Amino acid sequence: MSGLPPGLPREHRAVYLLGPERIELRRVPVPVPGPGELLVRIEAATTCGTDLKVLRRGGHPRMLMAPSPFGHEMAGTVAATGPVAEPGQAGRWSVGDRVVVANSAPCATCEQCLRGRENLCESLRYLNGAYAEYLLVPRLFAEVSTHAIPDGVAFEIAPLAEPLACVLHGLEVCPIAGAADTVVYGGGPIGLLFVNLLAEAGHHVVLADPNPQRLEVARRMGAAEAVLVSRDGGEAPRLRRRAGRGDGFDLAIEATGSPVAWEDALASVRDGGTVLLFGGCRSGTFIPLDTHRLHYQELTIKGAYHHRPATFRRALDLLASGRLQAAELLSAERPLEDLEGALRSMMRKEALKVVIRP
Ligand SMILES: [Zn+2]
Ligand SMILES: [Zn+2]
Repeated sequence: MSGLPPGLPREHRAVYLLGPERIELRRVPVPVPGPGELLVRIEAATTCGTDLKVLRRGGHPRMLMAPSPFGHEMAGTVAATGPVAEPGQAGRWSVGDRVVVANSAPCATCEQCLRGRENLCESLRYLNGAYAEYLLVPRLFAEVSTHAIPDGVAFEIAPLAEPLACVLHGLEVCPIAGAADTVVYGGGPIGLLFVNLLAEAGHHVVLADPNPQRLEVARRMGAAEAVLVSRDGGEAPRLRRRAGRGDGFDLAIEATGSPVAWEDALASVRDGGTVLLFGGCRSGTFIPLDTHRLHYQELTIKGAYHHRPATFRRALDLLASGRLQAAELLSAERPLEDLEGALRSMMRKEALKVVIRP
């Protein structure tokens, strides 16, 4: 069968990123799914700190180049399926299925993919277009990046699988033995998910952020302590004393993307400690490194980028388990035409994340 099933509109509204600080709500044709593809009706999309970066910079070196459909955290219902991709092969998805689509798809054949490091896939493809009424899911994404939403997980919670999958990936690269004294720099959605996961697993977590409202949320999400810090950095000596033995943390996580917080995280760990540098800084950013400490105190410094299909599935299971307070991250709900207002409210730190309902 080709064309759209009866009952679907021929046009829909979709937000496009046009360049730095420029987005536009456009009326465009509803795409017709080809072989192996899906058409998903977006039920909820969530805004993300990455969207703010992308809006300011007018694109992202890996994820999208303007002009482009915008938004990458979404959940919805399958509205139409394309013809089967291979003759005799049954389609995996049916109209009406509740799905969440990850915003990237690895090739599964390159060297990095074969090593299980699909987030570093040499031809990782990205999917944008969450801020729209409908989304065309390409065949590769329908096959490897589309997941059924577990029962009991609401449409507005399911898109959080994306940031949560990134956080799970970040923790997977960190060697944590036993209960870890942890400090998290940055109380945005990512930092708060780190707090929530680590606290839930029994670790002692201190959160540092310049915004008092975020400290409140951190306490509700399990932080043992939430400390108001300046935006200018230089907070490590004060924070180190908050660790259980007063001599620094086993694990310091940076989740702000600012070089001063990278430096603070590096300066916050005790001998043998691990530093996870999670927030991406602008390209060309350099920070000083105390080589003496790195060597004689045997520090482990890890970077982490994005997520993998396995962490995405685990994130959905975790959301379904009810063990996290993920709904704390959803500050407000806005219609599609208010996306810009929603993003501005995040820039002013009034909202953590906003649910966009088309
Ligand atoms: Zn995101
Ligand atoms: Zn690959």
